[in-house]
Amino acid sequence: MIDFQHVLDTIHQTAQKTDDRGKIADYIPELAKVDKYKFGIHLVNMNQENFSAGDSNERFSIQSISKVFTLTMALGLIGEKLWTRVDVEPSGDPFNHLSLLEFEKGIPRNPFINPGAIVVADVLISHLKNPKDEFLAFVRNIADDETIDYNSTVAASEKQTGFHNYAAANLLKSFKNLENDVETVLDFYFHQCSLTMSCAQLANTFYLYINNGRCRRKNTHLTSGQVKRINALMLTCGFYDEAGEFAFEVGLPGKSGVGGGIVALHPNKFCVATWSPGLNEKGNSKLGMLALEKLTTETELSIF
Ligand code: GLN
Repeated sequence: MIDFQHVLDTIHQTAQKTDDRGKIADYIPELAKVDKYKFGIHLVNMNQENFSAGDSNERFSIQSISKVFTLTMALGLIGEKLWTRVDVEPSGDPFNHLSLLEFEKGIPRNPFINPGAIVVADVLISHLKNPKDEFLAFVRNIADDETIDYNSTVAASEKQTGFHNYAAANLLKSFKNLENDVETVLDFYFHQCSLTMSCAQLANTFYLYINNGRCRRKNTHLTSGQVKRINALMLTCGFYDEAGEFAFEVGLPGKSGVGGGIVALHPNKFCVATWSPGLNEKGNSKLGMLALEKLTTETELSIF
């Protein structure tokens, strides 16, 4: 039996001694207010035993990690039809790049780069009566936690400086890959990114991706085929132009956000969430990646 608690404690101690923590994202002004020296890690195994260290119960902005939840909801609503509007290939580009989108005539490379996530948001808006409320209820349901909420200050802050996402949405619209108007879609997108959750909440929400689509409330949200596809996308596209490096160093499917969170998982074994706000030059949490590399190396639990 692996002593997960001991492994997490060791990782936490190493993190506390690390000075070089990367750079906090400040293109969303609200995110820049976070304490760079926060570090949390939380792991939940198949039997729903929980292990944690550091600031694992402190909530932070999950940002792009939310793209996994919108994808899950969209697949439940329209199934495989989604793939006519978004592709499933890694982009090799940063999360907000637009050049490929123009080149490939408005079909985003995958649902985890911003243009792809904006199309997924558009799908939800077209199929839901009250998109923001229903999406929030969906996340609370899969998390088994009614306290999860949007942070409207963060959403408003991103809207103010969201020129790149406006460009992406306008480009999608010009290629007729956006059904709703740009303002409505981006309002939803900025809200989904503003969801605030802790490492403990994230690890428990991702339980469904290690448990064949069944969440902690024992409801089935995805077929096992869909779970396979989402996990494959997390492995190949979850870290943008650092997806190769993450597979190489950590060896697990996962998803990062510019708030400094990372969630990674081993199907049928465990999911783990880390939070350290400083990012590396590719926009992924610097200490989070180091922590997960240490976890899979010490436990010898990677998918490879
Ligand atoms: N809301 C952020 C953006 O669109 C999400 C980016 C991220 O977390 N990688 O820029």
